[in-house]
Amino acid sequence: MKKILYVASECVPFIKTGGLADVVGTLPKTFSKDEADVRVVIPNYMCMKPEWKEQMKDVTYFSMDLSWRNQYVGIKELVYEGITFYFIDNEYYFAGPTPYSTMEGDIEKFCYFSKAALSILPVLDFKPDIIHCHDWQAGLLPVYLKTTFAGNSFYEDIKTVFTIHNLQFQGMTGIDRLKDLSGLPAEVFTADKLECYGGGNMLKGGLTYADEITTVSDTYAGEIQMPYYGEKLDGLLRARNNHLTGIVNGIDYKIYDPSADPALTATYSVEDVFEKKSMNKMALQKKTGLPEKKDMFVIGIISRLTDQKGLDLIDYIMDDLCRDDIQFVVLGSGDPKYENMFRYYEHKYPTIVSANICYDDTLSKMMYAGCDAILMPSRFEPCGLCQLMALRYGTVPIVRETGGLKDTVEPFNEYENDGTGFSFTNYNAHDMLHVIEYAKEVYYDQKAQWNGIVERGMKKDFSWKRSAGIYMDLYEKMLTIVEEEPETEDITDEVEE
Ligand code: ADP
Repeated sequence: MKKILYVASECVPFIKTGGLADVVGTLPKTFSKDEADVRVVIPNYMCMKPEWKEQMKDVTYFSMDLSWRNQYVGIKELVYEGITFYFIDNEYYFAGPTPYSTMEGDIEKFCYFSKAALSILPVLDFKPDIIHCHDWQAGLLPVYLKTTFAGNSFYEDIKTVFTIHNLQFQGMTGIDRLKDLSGLPAEVFTADKLECYGGGNMLKGGLTYADEITTVSDTYAGEIQMPYYGEKLDGLLRARNNHLTGIVNGIDYKIYDPSADPALTATYSVEDVFEKKSMNKMALQKKTGLPEKKDMFVIGIISRLTDQKGLDLIDYIMDDLCRDDIQFVVLGSGDPKYENMFRYYEHKYPTIVSANICYDDTLSKMMYAGCDAILMPSRFEPCGLCQLMALRYGTVPIVRETGGLKDTVEPFNEYENDGTGFSFTNYNAHDMLHVIEYAKEVYYDQKAQWNGIVERGMKKDFSWKRSAGIYMDLYEKMLTIVEEEPETEDITDEVEE
């Protein structure tokens, strides 16, 4: 039986700010218990709900050296749905009101976390075959493993996978500061390792030192090897191309299930979706203060409000879009410029736009059930979960063809009568407007075609089953592979002066 450890900064149901948490919380329980013992390590954030904290058991604590200081490491444990979760406890780092604070503060926090996640293993007497690290917060773990912990026989032969959920977030700071905070040896701060355009880059550590890299869709795996999407690491990713795989995310079909979701006014399946959707739509309209009209075309956005999500495109065309035959419900929080933009449009078009500037799980599910379409015009999108949830709830995704959006939404083709959504290619507001208008036209004037799109989407399977199989194949390959020669290709991204 394989032993696998997941290391990440967030995980459902304990703490979530984005899609990363869904992946880390759902994938481990998808593997069969006979083939793998998968455990998960996350920080013990003070801001987690008391219901979880009350269930945790204290395992032990010890003192860990980190550069020039000694830090407390407490270990707490909770078995949930058959998976063992470890929580690394340290109030100095994890007592904030939110999981993340400033990037500067977070750098120190996650240097500590990466080293602590390795240090707890002998104490727990758990030696994983593979440690699967997620995003920059766990980026230093493979570096510690192959440098600081290299002479320790307990850690011998442990392999690492690093998954990029979003290449934009890298954990960058000054080299001297990172050296000081991490205690990593000077030799790792060179251009072929952690140094990146004059700074120290924690994500680059993971990408360089992990045995295998994955990212969350095939298209994104290709895109990030190009300068436009590569966030200055495309050169490194091209060099590690033989060890880079795209594996599309799934969603938890038990939690996101329109036939059993307690957040819905009327639960439904593909058999009665159209009748029940109108009931959910009216409930959504009531909840969000819009006129209750069951035949209205309702578009939703459920998103972090950041530049990545393509919200500037919406700003360009909102006045054209806001006509009497449409309603627009937004749920999100983030950059004040977008929060205020949607507040402004709500004020300007009170019967058309509802701006819900908050994080609200129940409302998000009411929207998946009550909207007709979900709009995702992302500038880039590693995988995207909203469109998968929308498909599951019979809500039609309107997306830009990038990353996972391209891999999971099949554009409607009226001649072949197939497809599960609508899409546009260029990052262009009028291309987007045109596609939204087209979707609206199909909704109002070609009902049978529209209903076909809804039904085909609902019948797609984006549960974790298939992707979990691909991850397991990768783990198996890693454990049978003969040690390779180190890569010699030049992986420096810097332009020669
Ligand atoms: P990202 O990981 O870039 O934030 P994804 O589409 O991969 O985007 O995942 C977003 C997840 O967070 C989805 O599960 C979505 O429903 C949820 N979500 C985003 N914003 C909110 C919000 N304001 N309230 C509730 N859920 C939200």
